[in-house]
Amino acid sequence: MSMTTLGEPCVLLKLGEVVLKGRNRELFEMRLRANIKAALKDFPVEIRQRHGVIALFLPAGTGVEVAEAVAKRVSDVPGLVLIHLAWRVAKDPEVVTKAAIELVKDSDEVARKAHFAVRSRRRDKRFPLRSNELDRLVGGAINDTYGLPVSLKNPELTVHIEVDRDEVFLFTGGIAGQGGLPVGSSGRGLVLMSGGIDSPVAAYRMMRRGLRVDFLHFSGIPFTTSESIYKAYALVRNLDKFQGKSRLWVVPFGKAQQSIRASGQDRLAMIAQRRLMLKTAEEVAHRIHAEALVTGDSLGQVSSQTLTNITAQDNAVDLPILRPLIGLDKTEIIAEARRIGTLEISELPDEDCCTLLAPRSAETRAKIEDLKLIEKRLDAEDLASQLADSIRPYRLDADT
Ligand code: ATP
Ligand code: MG
Repeated sequence: MSMTTLGEPCVLLKLGEVVLKGRNRELFEMRLRANIKAALKDFPVEIRQRHGVIALFLPAGTGVEVAEAVAKRVSDVPGLVLIHLAWRVAKDPEVVTKAAIELVKDSDEVARKAHFAVRSRRRDKRFPLRSNELDRLVGGAINDTYGLPVSLKNPELTVHIEVDRDEVFLFTGGIAGQGGLPVGSSGRGLVLMSGGIDSPVAAYRMMRRGLRVDFLHFSGIPFTTSESIYKAYALVRNLDKFQGKSRLWVVPFGKAQQSIRASGQDRLAMIAQRRLMLKTAEEVAHRIHAEALVTGDSLGQVSSQTLTNITAQDNAVDLPILRPLIGLDKTEIIAEARRIGTLEISELPDEDCCTLLAPRSAETRAKIEDLKLIEKRLDAEDLASQLADSIRPYRLDADT
C-alpha cells in the first residue's frame, strides 16, 4: 500500500447524544475530549475538534497499526457512537480520487466485484465540487479502475469522503463505540460491587450514562477467604477502561454479619444485611461526595429482589439507589457481561459473603418494622459508620 497516495492514517470520532445537548454541549464536549485524552495518554495523538466530529491526528509517518490501536482504545470511551480509521489527504479532487482508488485496492469487495457506493460530505462549502459531484468523480474512477458495479441502495462497500476545513478524510468501515454520555457529565456514584455477574454490568450501564463511579465491596473476612476481594479487584480493573482512575474499597463485613445472625431472625437476615450494606455505603458515599448508590438488582431475580424487599432496601437510606438492571432478564445481563469482558471474571468460583447468611427459606415480604427492631438491637447506624471507618482502599488504573 503506497502511503504517499493514501495520505496519513488518523482516527475520526462521531459523537453520540452529546450533540443533542443544546447549550450544555460545549461542556459535554470538553468533558469528552478530556476523557479521550486520558484514555490515550500512552499514544502520541493530537486531538482536533471539528464541527460535530473529533479527529485524532498522529505524527507524520506513523504506521497504520498505531492508528488501529488508538481506534480500539478509544472505542471504550463512553460518548462516542462510531470510530473510523481514516486517511487524511490534501483538499484536491484529484488527490482524493487517487487516494480512494488506493484505499479499496486490496479489499475483498474489489476482489469479488461487489456493489459499491461513494458518499461524500462537505463540512467546508468552499471545496470546488459539491458532494454529489465528488461522489460521481470518485465513483467513476473506482468503476473505471476495478470494474465494480455501483449500487446506491445496497452497497457492500461504501467509500466515505468527508471534506473538512484543512483536509479531506477517507474511510470505508468503522467500529461501534459505547454510545451514551461522557463519564463525569452526570455526577458521581458509588457501586455496591459483589463478585457476581450483575453489579459490574450495572456499573457499566451507569458509567455509560455519564456517572463517574467508585466501588465498594463487602467481604465476609475473617470468616471467608479473600477470593471475592480478588474478583472485585479484577472486575474493577477491567471496568476501568471505561472511565480511568477507578477506586475500590473493601469492607471487612464478617463480624457484622455474625451480629446479624446472632439476632436470631433467620428469615430476615438477608434483608437486614442488605440494609446494613446500604447504610454503610451511604456513609462512604457522603465521605467521597457521591450522590447516588448503584446496585445490580433485577426485579424478582432472587428473593431479596422482590418488590417488597426492594422497597425495604430503599427505606434504609436517603440517597437514591440506581438499579439500571431492574428490568433486564438474566440472559440479557449475561450477554452484556460477555460483551464488556466481565463475565469470565464473575464466573470464577468464590465464597461470597452473602452465603454466610443464606437461610433455608428467605423472607420475600420483609416488614420494615421488623427490620427496624433488628437494627435497633444491632445499633445499625453506629455499626454502619464504624464499618465505613474500617474500609480499605485499592487504587486502580488500567496500566498499573
Ligand atoms: P451480583 O451478580 O451483582 O452479585 P446477584 O444477582 O448475585 O447480583 P445479590 O447477590 O442478591 O444478587 O445482590 C444484589 C446486589 O447487591 C448486587 O448486584 C450488588 O450491587 C449488591 N451486593 C451483593 N453482595 C455484595 C457484596 N458482597 N459487596 C457489595 N455489594 C454487594
Ligand atoms: Mg451476588
